[in-house]
Amino acid sequence: MPAITNHLPTAELQALDAAHHMHPFTANRDLAEKGARVITRADGVYLTDSEGVEILDAMAGLWCVNIGYGRDELAEVAARQMRELPYYNTFFQTTHVPAIALANKIAELAPGDLNHVFFAGGGSEANDTNIRMVRHYWALKGKPTKSVIISRTNAYHGSTVGSASLGGMAAMHAQGGIPIPDIHHIGQPNWWVEGGEMTPEEFGLARARELEDAIQELGEERVAALIAEPVQGAGGVVVAPDTYWPEIQRICDKYEILLIADEVICGFGRTGNWFGIETLNIRPDIMTIAKGLSSGYAPIGGSVVSDEVASVIAGGEFNHGYTYSGHPVAAAVALENLRILEEEKIVDTVRDRTGPYLKQKWEALADHPLVGEARIVGMMGSIALTPHKQSRAAFASDPGAVGLICRDRCFANSLIMRHVGDRMIISPPLVITEAEIDLLIERATRALDETYAELKSRDMLRPAS
Ligand SMILES: *Cc1c(COP(=O)(O)O)cnc(C)c1O
Repeated sequence: MPAITNHLPTAELQALDAAHHMHPFTANRDLAEKGARVITRADGVYLTDSEGVEILDAMAGLWCVNIGYGRDELAEVAARQMRELPYYNTFFQTTHVPAIALANKIAELAPGDLNHVFFAGGGSEANDTNIRMVRHYWALKGKPTKSVIISRTNAYHGSTVGSASLGGMAAMHAQGGIPIPDIHHIGQPNWWVEGGEMTPEEFGLARARELEDAIQELGEERVAALIAEPVQGAGGVVVAPDTYWPEIQRICDKYEILLIADEVICGFGRTGNWFGIETLNIRPDIMTIAKGLSSGYAPIGGSVVSDEVASVIAGGEFNHGYTYSGHPVAAAVALENLRILEEEKIVDTVRDRTGPYLKQKWEALADHPLVGEARIVGMMGSIALTPHKQSRAAFASDPGAVGLICRDRCFANSLIMRHVGDRMIISPPLVITEAEIDLLIERATRALDETYAELKSRDMLRPAS
């Protein structure tokens, strides 16, 4: 077999990919026919594919490349750490400097008394840790019946058996025998789709009160925790109405349940503060982190735990851990990433300058004939595509058919923007400049224009009845 390198023709790489590589969240036979897009390198906010096309990555990979691509400092730190100590575990009463330093840094950055870190390989694993930890916590407190974890429809918390059970994605629950027992879902705060005749404020309160109803229905003595993303990411960048989070916090304070904030996307600057809980004024007991923690340069995640929860768990052996918990190379890379985020004031820039600039341009997209609402928090935004704005109508076509057309028009215009159903979403690297934001908006507008023209010519601008 010849060496497989960037120098092979695209078609050959695609054929080799199709022969042996199973892609996540993909219909692999369809992809094999089309051929996967081969990405060969990246720098700043731009990807380059095997045809030499430069693409503006408005998704920061999978929401993770917060500091942008191509930072040599991280490569150097990784190489240095691999030479010094490429691996050692943190089981059996041992530790190492990268894990010590990263845990201390995260405790310094995290608000309130979120001072203790249990490391994992990514967000899914961290949420699996959370399931076991909150149930174990209540057992240690003499309340072993408190095992139900409440989550929300359309939430995304990962893809392992446990974390996918927490998630509220119907398509995931349809495969592989999930959810596990004692997971309960309440409605998501997605006013555009589900708000009916209510105002956003009324709807936000109504959706938050589903939590109180669920606690009363299940019985407080059965409920362990609520898990929620401050802003639902994979669900379509769903920004809750302003009334939602204060009411959720009130209910969490009133009842004896833990609050887990899944910060895997919102954390590390995405919303214009270090954590989404600061932007939305939430006080969780546990925070899930991953993605932006290392800007995706190395796989690492974790659970950040309050003094109180950590002290209860510390009372005995918690029979849980991963071979790569606190992996020294990943931890060293994450630490260097946090140094760059902090020293280059990237989070401040998003909050004070580039975030507000993007917000103004993004919200102006709502003037496009195809766009209903445009929502954005910091550097995560979404637009709802609709054939009729006033009634917030869905399209007559299958959900996602229009979104897919728009996604393809984005690709054709060298822009990575994702679609979730008929909602288009962005989450660019936090280092995106004003000029690059202009280019993003220009390409997005062109893609919307082309989508609109295509829908018109195919008679697809019709609302669902
Ligand atoms: C991506 C994501 C996860 C899962 O993280 P992985 O690193 O893919 O396991 C969990 N929660 C949220 C909110 C995410 O966006």
